[in-house]
Parts: sequence; C-alpha cells; structure tokens
Amino acid sequence: MSRPATLPVSAVLARSAKRFAGETPIGRKRRARKMARVLAETHPDAHCELDFETPLQLAVATILSAQCTDKKVNEVTPIVFKRYLSAADYAAADRMEMEAILRPTGFFRAKTDSLIKLGQALEERHEGVLPHTLDELVALPGIGRKTANVILGNAFDVPGITVDTHFRRLVNRFGWVHEEDPVKIEFLVAELIEKRDWTMFSHRIIFHGRRVCHAKKPACGACSLATMCPSYGLGPTEAAPAAKLLKGPRARELAIQVGLDPDLVPAAAIATPDVP
Ligand code: SF4
Repeated sequence: MSRPATLPVSAVLARSAKRFAGETPIGRKRRARKMARVLAETHPDAHCELDFETPLQLAVATILSAQCTDKKVNEVTPIVFKRYLSAADYAAADRMEMEAILRPTGFFRAKTDSLIKLGQALEERHEGVLPHTLDELVALPGIGRKTANVILGNAFDVPGITVDTHFRRLVNRFGWVHEEDPVKIEFLVAELIEKRDWTMFSHRIIFHGRRVCHAKKPACGACSLATMCPSYGLGPTEAAPAAKLLKGPRARELAIQVGLDPDLVPAAAIATPDVP
C-alpha cells in the first residue's frame, strides 16, 4: 500500500518522536547548524522585507507591521515617512490625521498612539535619536523584544533573533524547541545558532515560513530541509501537490533546488507572499 501524500499530524509526531528520540543536545546543535546552512543556500535573497532608510523609519515600519503584511506596510510608509521626518514630528502629530494615514495597516488607533508616544519618549529621553541597545529600545512605547531585535539587527548591525509567528512555528516543527513563549524560544535558539548569524538566520526562517513551510499546508515534498525535519509529512510529500504550494518570486528556483520540475509551480505563485 502506498503512503498517503499527507500524513495525519499524529502519525508525523509519532514517527518523529521515534526518529529523533535519541538525539543528544550536541546532535541537535549539529542538525540545527546544518539546517541553517541549507536555509542560507535555499534563500540567498532573504532580507528584511520592510522598506526603510533610517533606524527611526525601521522602528515605525516594524510597529506598523503588527497584524499587517509587509507589502501593505510598504505601501503606506512612503506617505508616513514624507509627512513625519523626525521624532519631534511624530511627537507633535495630529492624531486624526495620522489615524487616517495609518488606517490601511489595521489597528490604526493603537498604532497612532504608539508612534506619537514613541516620538515623545525619544524627544524626552534620547534627544530625538533612536537608541541602539536592547534594554533602551524595549523601554520605549510600542517597542517589544521582537521589534527591538529587528531594529538592532537591521539598522544597527547588532545580531538579533526575531521570533515572529513564522519563526515560532518553524523551530517547533524542526524539533529544536518545544516551546511557545517567544522569549524562551529566542534564548533556546541562541544556544544553537552562532551569534554572528542571528539576524540573517531570522530572515531565512521567516522567508522559509512564508514561501515553503506554510502554517496550514507546508510544502514538505518541495522542501530543502525535508531529510532533517521531524515534521516532514505534515504537508503533501508528493512532487506535484507540494510544488503547487511554493510561493514567491523564486518559487521555480525553489522547486529546481530540490530536483522538481519548475513547471509544476503555478504562475500565480510567483508573487511576493502576502502573509503577515
Ligand atoms: S519538511 Fe515540511 S514541516 Fe519540515 S520544514 Fe519542510 S515544509 Fe516545514
């Protein structure tokens, strides 16, 4: 009898528990680093998908990205950055006007509140300049640990691990952690991956989550990590249905990388994934 193309979650978990049952901490670290190297080859284009030119702009874009796609944020930020040039501009913003500008990103009242308070705090405590330590950043309104790590890694070149929804899902699927708390995940993954790689590694994981290892239906049969992933089988393992799930401008290359026919990738898939 042939194996079903998609295994039930219980079957995947039972099989992975067996296969990785004896994995030692050093074995897990070796596997993690190998998977990280494969991810680097799989997603050479990985980068911060938010458009920005200054640390303040990145802080603003990251705050706006909560519950919103990067694509939508990138449509709105040119208007925001033109209207508000400095922390003082955000501090003195007219609430109604800013709410109208931010409306397309969702939760626009809370986001307006965060940006005005951020501007005020920067003016009061940091002479209008964004600080570049984790402790100072997380003490600012609207900036949590995830946002602070995005800013550190991408605007200040300080290695940071960004645990967003994709990161959390993937490292659990990889069996690197069995944990939902983002801060605990950050510390556990920091033990596995070299510090100098943290920022780019985070981008690669997020790219893989948006393009291959989707929340609902991962493209297991078209995944470069398949042989090292205990969750292989959560999504379709056969070539055609798996290739159909690949997303993004490099979807065809992703298929070729794992030996699949790129023509299996539908034309509609070759667009930047519009996933929060
Ligand atoms: S094998 Fe499947 S579950 Fe594992 S990383 Fe790849 S797509 Fe995700």
